[in-house]
Amino acid sequence: MTHQDLLAVAQEFGNPVYVYNASTMEAQYKRLDKAFKGVKKVKFHYAVKALSNLSVLKLLHSFGCGMDTVSIQEVQLALQAGVPAKDIIFTPNGVSLEELEAAAKLGVQINIDNLSILEQFGTRHPEIPVCVRINPHVMAGGNTNISVGHIDSKFGISIHQVPLLLRIVENTGMHINGIHMHTGSDILDIDVFLYASEILFETAKRFTNLDFIDFGSGFKVPYKTGDIETNIEELGEKLTTRFNEFCKNYGKELTLAFEPGKFLVSEAGKFLVQVNVIKQTTSTVFAQVDSGFNHLIRPMLYNAQHHIENISNPAGKERFYSVVGYICETDTFANNRRISEITEGDVLAFHNAGAYSFSMASNYNSRFRPAEVLWYDGKSHLIRKRETFEDLVANQVEFQL
Ligand SMILES: *Cc1c(COP(=O)(O)O)cnc(C)c1O
Repeated sequence: MTHQDLLAVAQEFGNPVYVYNASTMEAQYKRLDKAFKGVKKVKFHYAVKALSNLSVLKLLHSFGCGMDTVSIQEVQLALQAGVPAKDIIFTPNGVSLEELEAAAKLGVQINIDNLSILEQFGTRHPEIPVCVRINPHVMAGGNTNISVGHIDSKFGISIHQVPLLLRIVENTGMHINGIHMHTGSDILDIDVFLYASEILFETAKRFTNLDFIDFGSGFKVPYKTGDIETNIEELGEKLTTRFNEFCKNYGKELTLAFEPGKFLVSEAGKFLVQVNVIKQTTSTVFAQVDSGFNHLIRPMLYNAQHHIENISNPAGKERFYSVVGYICETDTFANNRRISEITEGDVLAFHNAGAYSFSMASNYNSRFRPAEVLWYDGKSHLIRKRETFEDLVANQVEFQL
């Protein structure tokens, strides 16, 4: 998409607006697919929580993605997008037995991450095959909030509790058909990932009738210039060899599964905002935009640095700006960032706004959540309307004084 295309979207649908480029998602999917072409059976389940718009789910499914879901509502979204239950995996954390049963009733693959619920589920439904989430206690992942594989993490069944897990399986007669790990987002080091995979292989050997091994996700994408990204091609090459060797020894052609979110959609998204005010103080030049962390919380929540471009004046002389939002508390998108000269009214594009961006948006400060647009085949398609005042009050029940 050119700057002109983006400006046209902002013109047509207003600001702020999220724009997703379908061809970027397709290219990322193809990269993954190619990296693991040496494995006979591969399945990529897109992590719905990254960006859960129905049209995006449909698009990714059309490429061949299944869906990885973490709530019963995400299961329902995936089904509504036309993804068959057999292509959906439900990987929640700490949900009730009732929610798991509801998902199982819809026919999706269940993934259980604690022994208590595993025992209850297995006792009541020994006939339903279940995947188990193992915690290999390997520290991977960038920010501490998104590292989920370490020793005191709430996720997964500890590798040290596998004997207990096996006893539950034996007592209930349930069938474990898959094992899973997800060590956290933003994996920098392939060797750490491969090390965790070895632990998973060791665990897999102890289950006699698996259908798949799910290696989770956490592939890192570059956010700013100079950022390292997970080398998918190298990971593909190394893990393919190891996986095929494992299957040979195991005596069965298993499916290799992944559940990428960020990798598939992050770079496809741009968030367009307009600059309301340029405020020059004694020390800083602020560019105050018509949005805030209610629409894009990653900079405030994870210290994420989204590259910001002034698409109204891309060739202008670069100056330093602090880009801030309108929320009435600290609301900083970028500190003293070099951006080509900004005039009030200019449109800024935040890069990497596909993953964990709209899906984490809220109505804080009683603002409307933005519109979403899909760029497909050189044309823009509205895939979510901007909210209106009616949406804000829709579920409120006015108390009669
Ligand atoms: C969030 C999540 C993912 C996706 O992680 P990314 O870093 O976006 O690729 C995959 N699996 C599970 C279980 C998750 O919770």
